[in-house]
Amino acid sequence: MGLPKNTYDVIVIGGGASGMMAAVVAGKRGKRVLLIEKNKRLGEKIRISGGGRCNILNTEEDTRKFLSNFGEADKFLFSPFAQFGVKETREFFESNGLPLMEEEHNRAFPKSESAEDVVHFFEKLLREYKVEVRKNIEVHELVKRSGRITRVRAGMHEFAAESIVLATGGVSHPETGSSGEGFEWLKKLGHDVQEPKPTVVPLKVEEKWIRNMSGNSLPDAKITFALGKERKFSVRGRILFTHFGLSGPTILNSAAKVQDLLHEGLVWAHIDIFPDIDLGALDVKVQEIFEANKNKNVRNVFKELLPPGTADVLAKRFPHIDEEIKVHSVTKEQRKGIVEFLKNVPLVISGLMEADRAVIADGGVPLSEIDTKTMKSKVIKNLFITGDLFNITRPTGGYSFQLCWTSGYVAGMNV
Ligand SMILES: Cc1cc2nc3c(=O)[nH]c(=O)nc-3n(C[C@H](O)[C@H](O)[C@H](O)COP(=O)(O)OP(=O)(O)OC[C@H]3O[C@@H](n4cnc5c(N)ncnc54)[C@H](O)[C@@H]3O)c2cc1C
Repeated sequence: MGLPKNTYDVIVIGGGASGMMAAVVAGKRGKRVLLIEKNKRLGEKIRISGGGRCNILNTEEDTRKFLSNFGEADKFLFSPFAQFGVKETREFFESNGLPLMEEEHNRAFPKSESAEDVVHFFEKLLREYKVEVRKNIEVHELVKRSGRITRVRAGMHEFAAESIVLATGGVSHPETGSSGEGFEWLKKLGHDVQEPKPTVVPLKVEEKWIRNMSGNSLPDAKITFALGKERKFSVRGRILFTHFGLSGPTILNSAAKVQDLLHEGLVWAHIDIFPDIDLGALDVKVQEIFEANKNKNVRNVFKELLPPGTADVLAKRFPHIDEEIKVHSVTKEQRKGIVEFLKNVPLVISGLMEADRAVIADGGVPLSEIDTKTMKSKVIKNLFITGDLFNITRPTGGYSFQLCWTSGYVAGMNV
């Protein structure tokens, strides 16, 4: 005999990465599954991920090494990763028709380089496993009785199920639908939810001129963070300029350490645009270019040396020199000043962007309150929790989605 209307084996709340995974896996097991998503489309955050390319996972297959990126959460994650780790995830995508490719730092993307394709991939499987998908309806209440969720209320509708998977995401980029209500429900249900705090997030800088380079980047620069005059740590990689300051993976992954420095005092960022050569070698390079372009003005000459979109702006900041001056009029001291500037563009860090601009915000349910063999809550008997709802520190590079695939899979297998 079938189940009564609006009654299911499983209700998954949230049609993002981890929710779709859980729904597909439960559907494949023959469960009658309802997936509820408040947006008109599934997977809005997937669509904007990885700059529209979706860094779908990190290919590090050594689980110990992989989990060393998850801070203190690592010990709780061995069990779910033993069930569905990186290797299994890769096979899952590729054997179901989404070929992947790998780039530096073990980052994997769909071969098509289209994040949309990841959403289409899940839509196809949801159809195949007969998951009922209801979009454009928002869950507003989970009703608890005798330690279980007995009803899910969404607008005018009421649904019931044996198991509930909560996959409503965290608080980053709320325009994608993850606006934090999951945290509020979990608090009310008795979980100890840590306040969300952005950890992987762009940096704001004091200098207003930086916004003139917004959208442009330095492909391989070194950035040294200093507390006053004391140099604290350096990182190297692509630096992206935004309207408010700095972004790109190197910056995002430095944000938590910069946050700590900001508690202690004034934080400087010193950007070295040519980290592979020293001052002397860069001076020789500039002299050669000056020699070949004596009658050009300084600004135009630096278009040969600096990435597009940055030369004009940086030339305006060269110390003691007018950008329109002809190269033949530049004195040796002025040239040396330019070279020193290119090896050390100083900026004052005024803070971190807010949680809404974060790629990852810490906060959420501690894994100690979850049975991580099943992803079931230890507080509510029939509630499973996945993805960004957990309080887990992690860097960029495909680690977040992997956590969604693994937790979604394990929840889907245990509902
Ligand atoms: C700009 C950006 C780029 C990123 N790029 C990458 C990347 O390349 N690689 C990587 O590994 N990670 C990346 N991340 C992180 C990754 O996107 C998240 O970790 C992941 O999407 C979290 O998935 P989730 O299933 O937990 O929640 P989400 O994807 O946030 O999905 C939650 C869903 O629940 C729905 N929902 C919420 N409340 C309700 C409600 N009341 N009723 C019904 N539905 C509801 C939401 O609308 C949403 O669709 C990026 C994040 C951002 C912000």
